[in-house]
Amino acid sequence: MTTDLEAENAALLQFLYACPAGLVEFSAAGAISMVNPAAMGLLMPIAGKPFVINLFDVMDSCAPELRNLVQHFSPPQGTVCDGHRIVTGRGERSTVLACSIVKLTQDRYVATLSDVTEQVARERRLKQAETWFASLLDGVDDVAVLSLDANGCIDAVTSSAARQTGFTDAELIGKPFEWFDRPDRASAMPLPGEAIAVAQRDGWYLHEGWHALADGGRYWCQRLVAVRDEAAGAAAGYTLVIRAVTRQGRDAADLRRMLTLDHLTGASNRAHFFETAERQLLRALRDGGSLALVVLDVDHFKRVNDEHGHAAGDVVLREVARRCEAELRPEDIFARMGGEEFVVLLPGTSLMAASAVAERLRASLAREPIDVGEIQLCITASFGCSALDTDPAASLAGLLAAADSALYSAKRAGRDRVALSNSDQAAA
Ligand code: GH3
Ligand code: MG
Ligand code: MG
Repeated sequence: MTTDLEAENAALLQFLYACPAGLVEFSAAGAISMVNPAAMGLLMPIAGKPFVINLFDVMDSCAPELRNLVQHFSPPQGTVCDGHRIVTGRGERSTVLACSIVKLTQDRYVATLSDVTEQVARERRLKQAETWFASLLDGVDDVAVLSLDANGCIDAVTSSAARQTGFTDAELIGKPFEWFDRPDRASAMPLPGEAIAVAQRDGWYLHEGWHALADGGRYWCQRLVAVRDEAAGAAAGYTLVIRAVTRQGRDAADLRRMLTLDHLTGASNRAHFFETAERQLLRALRDGGSLALVVLDVDHFKRVNDEHGHAAGDVVLREVARRCEAELRPEDIFARMGGEEFVVLLPGTSLMAASAVAERLRASLAREPIDVGEIQLCITASFGCSALDTDPAASLAGLLAAADSALYSAKRAGRDRVALSNSDQAAA
């Protein structure tokens, strides 16, 4: 028994030593039990000393989130993060590491570290080229320049800002710049804090979306947040450049809508759902917040098509989407997964709260028949819910599978009801 264990440890040591990628084995508290030469080469410059004892302590200056990522990862094993980017050092000497962490057992983790500085520089140049190219296609009408403090609050404005937005200097100054975002379902806006976090990491952040006007309206613009001066520590502030984009910009908005929305129902499409859900999931995992999914499938929908025709089926699908969207918050994403199956992404929502939302959707579908030309059709749907607070699956695929299996138990239990993942109870 002991010799088996010793042999296993010796084999692991040999592998650790020879591996060209940086490998670190550590405990949930960050205590390093093994580190190979490649990892040592990457960690020593960060630690500033020739030995490293605790991974979280070493990374505190550049990746304090590692501690949270590891400690909030509840499954007994699995991938904690994959290719997580860590910027070490500043300016000329900054290095970008890609860090992946796998949880092996309750108190045993392995991190792989590799230097991806070159690759990141290439990506950045590519992105800059794309931005430049996009600006050639867009008609830029007007440029406003504002100054943001280290927290992303507006601290100085030029007259161009007032001219563009209609807001007075006094109305602009002191507000977080995101306060002027006017998100809508069709154009995924950055999450609160995301623009500043990305600008901190990459030096700049570019986004296109709606911006508020003082008269209550909105206009389409490109926003560039660029780090201003990098003092010894964090960014001292940011420059925000807002470029108002007209006509062609609106065409771009239409294009975005075409790319993100389902043509039949106007709900988000699968691609947009997956893109948004992945980002929201990462955020929830990072901040320890919850996130819920509700999947729904119209009951006996085939009969609608068979008895009343495909066009009638289409009317029903559009009305299902309309009724569901009317019950949801602006930050929720309602998407068509395909056929008569839809999914709702509910940020910051527990399983219990999600089941209440699902129950509301169920009731709103069942309450009144749907007008389809001359006739009225009564339809119902079945619902399955899953959420991060009760489901150990920290991946989108895992959460979807959990919600799907709940949906199928709702179908088996007789349809027109809500079922929760990891639970046999079905409400309604
Ligand atoms: P269940 O209660 O088990 O969900 O039964 P169901 O009849 O709803 O399930 P099934 O998956 O057998 O049938 C789905 C039907 O949806 C079959 C397909 O022809 C129809 N469908 C898929 N996409 C569309 C669409 O875009 N428009 C219309 N009208 N029908 C569609
Ligand atoms: Mg179906
Ligand atoms: Mg169905």
